[in-house]
Amino acid sequence: MSESNTQNDATIVAIDGPAGVGKSTVAQQLAKRLRLPMIDTGAMYRTVALKALLTDTDPDDGEAVSKIAESIELELRADPEGGVEVYLDGEAVGQRIRTPEVSEAASRVSVHSGVRRCMVELQRRAALRSGGVLEGRDIGTVVFPETPFKFFLTARAQVRAERRHRDLVAAGRGTSVDDVLKEILQRDRRDSERSDSPLRLDESYFEIDSSDLKPPEIVERMVGTIRRRQQELADPAESDDPDRDLSEE
Ligand code: C5P
Repeated sequence: MSESNTQNDATIVAIDGPAGVGKSTVAQQLAKRLRLPMIDTGAMYRTVALKALLTDTDPDDGEAVSKIAESIELELRADPEGGVEVYLDGEAVGQRIRTPEVSEAASRVSVHSGVRRCMVELQRRAALRSGGVLEGRDIGTVVFPETPFKFFLTARAQVRAERRHRDLVAAGRGTSVDDVLKEILQRDRRDSERSDSPLRLDESYFEIDSSDLKPPEIVERMVGTIRRRQQELADPAESDDPDRDLSEE
């Protein structure tokens, strides 16, 4: 394994994929299972976006939002339910970062290299301390390209929109599935087409289509894959043996 994945023997798991694909739920459950912290990198970009909205800063103004990213105090703390709570300048942001307005602004602030540089540094520093399950768009390509444990979640667009819609309705936001679909497709396009760190699937990832799977089933597949990869890395000769038992112990 390369240096960036082995400092302090920290296990780093990358989960990337488009909006509404279930990354947060799966990352949370996998982190619990592996006893690693979960690092929700989308929540970090959302918090920069929230600060921009609170200070009437244009999310498209790269210089201004990069200054925000450099100056805010941003902290992720584990919450008692196994999730993460984000603190902006010492105050919990709660559901304020989950509104459609913040989603849209997050997708705009995250195209700027100054913002990305700050977030990537925070993410690397946090994960190298104790390992982690990181979910986002660029974890396997930019934040920890050398980790051997990379997953790319996909799902049909309609399924993703229905999931996001359910979450928004549960949070008391009246909206239609069609509007949610439009919003996530627009964000996906921006995330995939930006020049700095676009969302991109390559052959170093294990791809999982989550459309017809429940989160625990996805987590099982991930755990199995991680164990196999660990075995292969520990004993490459053994993993070349076609008769080896690949079942999860
Ligand atoms: O994953 P989530 O929907 O919370 O992310 C919000 C936005 O933050 C995404 O639409 C994307 O533009 C941005 N993001 C990013 N890189 C990451 C995580 C999120 O650009 N690693």
